[in-house]
Amino acid sequence: MSSLQPVRGTHDLLPEAMRRHRAVIDTAREVAARYGFQEMATPIFEFTEVFKRTLGDTSDIVTKEMYTFAMGAGKGSSADEEGATITLRPENTAGVARAFISGGLAQQVPVKAFYAGPMFRHERPQKGRQRQFHQFGVELIGVAQPQADIEVIACGAHILEALGLSDAVTLELNTLGDPDSRTAYREALVAYFSAHHDSLSEDSRDRLTRNPLRILDSKDEGDRKLVADAPLFEDYLNAGSRDFFAAVREGLESLGIAYRLNPRLVRGLDYYCHTAFEFTTDRLGAQSAVMAGGRYDGLIETMGGPATPGVGWASGIERLAMLLAEDIPAPRPVVVVPVGEAAQATALTVAQDLRHAGFVVELGYSGNLKKRLQRANKMNARAALLFGEEELAAGNATLRDLDSGEQELVSLNSLAERLSRLA
Ligand code: ATP
Ligand code: MG
Repeated sequence: MSSLQPVRGTHDLLPEAMRRHRAVIDTAREVAARYGFQEMATPIFEFTEVFKRTLGDTSDIVTKEMYTFAMGAGKGSSADEEGATITLRPENTAGVARAFISGGLAQQVPVKAFYAGPMFRHERPQKGRQRQFHQFGVELIGVAQPQADIEVIACGAHILEALGLSDAVTLELNTLGDPDSRTAYREALVAYFSAHHDSLSEDSRDRLTRNPLRILDSKDEGDRKLVADAPLFEDYLNAGSRDFFAAVREGLESLGIAYRLNPRLVRGLDYYCHTAFEFTTDRLGAQSAVMAGGRYDGLIETMGGPATPGVGWASGIERLAMLLAEDIPAPRPVVVVPVGEAAQATALTVAQDLRHAGFVVELGYSGNLKKRLQRANKMNARAALLFGEEELAAGNATLRDLDSGEQELVSLNSLAERLSRLA
């Protein structure tokens, strides 16, 4: 280990990677805004309790993946705070729900939030799986109707389409029904898996008592064989749950959003209900999920807020950035090159004026003309502005088009206008 390496599972976003990252977030934000989602941000850490309550004591995230710290004593801390622990957010739905409650947003429903930022999970790093990664996501809080599910999924599909990824992803869809249906299904699952108790993996035996639905997405070979013959949720859905799912499916179909039913797509927590979905890809090896979400009608009440329905999804920015076909080029600058001492001051003010006019301008810092032009080419500059004493005396500069190699004299007053006509 070297202390000059980034911590395992974390990555620098150097400019080239950052441009892809930015492109993903900007596209997502712009599309989400068209659906009425407004950006908000919550702190990167919360009291541990916020995540324990929302994700559940038995979830993988809470049992294995959270970065939790003692808050410790510090200036101005109360005794309460000193005894508390804080956790780096592993996801952002809990934070948004907490903010919804503490910010009194219940008066303003429906609340439509978009967020983007870093998340932290202590898991085994591999391609597409990091310890600090980034998500963007949307939450639509306060609407119980299936229209909200449809809108949220349509927004996700639209973002993936805008990123050019429609062909790279598949929408997988399932329903978890309402609480009554879930209880009935859970009982059926417990009965079935209990009869095969000895063949279950150790993890799944544990899940059987804590969180039997989770067995359905076990990665263990033996478990998978049992799961293949397990009871289907479909057979335990009551009429209301069936109608809800039918409405979601019809809505998606009327919008031309293709999906594949996946009865094994589950969420382990009690407050999840009805719609569960994931956009997956086969282009990233084992890390196949790029966007995942569902309805969480019980969440806000579980946290101690007023009973409020909600539906949303979160998407992994690194995974999407890896799927983008092309590099995102940096903007091509105009390079200002003073020739001789006397031109320095003018070059500086012209550069500044052009920046105010919206151009990306680089100053050749030092070296002879040839060196500076070489550097301009290296930074993929679109044009160079050469300031020699004679030209300046006449109020002109030489514009060199670095793609065609052509040069012309341009008056200082019309530089911006002339540059804006370069392709
Ligand atoms: P996975 O099955 O890959 O572990 P998950 O079910 O833990 O995913 P969610 O909690 O639903 O993932 O998070 C939503 C999205 O965030 C995922 O679909 C994925 O794109 C991304 N994501 C989750 N964990 C990581 C990670 N450790 N590194 C990079 N991206 C991640
Ligand atoms: Mg995970």
